[in-house]
Amino acid sequence: MSNVTANSNAPVAQNQPMAPSELEESARSFAFTTRLDAIVAWGRKNSLWPMPYGTACCGIELMSVMGPKYDLARFGAEVVRFSPRQADMLVVAGTITEKMAPVLVHIYEQMLEPKYVISMGACASSGGFYRAYHVLQGIDKVIPVDVFVPGCPPTPEAVLDGVLALQRMIATNTPRPWVDNWKRPEWLKPL
Ligand code: SF4
Repeated sequence: MSNVTANSNAPVAQNQPMAPSELEESARSFAFTTRLDAIVAWGRKNSLWPMPYGTACCGIELMSVMGPKYDLARFGAEVVRFSPRQADMLVVAGTITEKMAPVLVHIYEQMLEPKYVISMGACASSGGFYRAYHVLQGIDKVIPVDVFVPGCPPTPEAVLDGVLALQRMIATNTPRPWVDNWKRPEWLKPL
């Protein structure tokens, strides 16, 4: 004889299987599913650590992007670092001379993977109006560039747009052959 008594208030167990839509709805109340690469990309895109490499007037414009009005922090890229070992988004803002090119490459090489590069303004992207032997005619001659932001100087909105373009690229795991095929230019003298 059993001492167990049934609780009359307990819901009566139903052996009916849940419909797929009910099951999905129920699962949504406590869990979500994703792919590992998607959630890693989501984390990366929302935690960019910029390293400003300001060499000329574009550097001043970049400061306003970081300031309270435009506030790059809203896009998850506020942790500005001045050490390449603590940054993953290099923002080159200004004229780069041939003499400075080995320094830029050295800094790029010191950054940890995965790393990204934004070329801000006409000078960094193409030499700008410095059509001269001593100015690099675009930083993509020495390092791989993910996003070029046009302008002289680019507006803060344009820079924000460049960061958003980079974030879209990261979120979708866009292939970056310019990075994969990059080699240190042989003509550059080591520091
Ligand atoms: S692109 Fe224009 S604003 Fe930017 S560094 Fe060159 S000259 Fe200055």
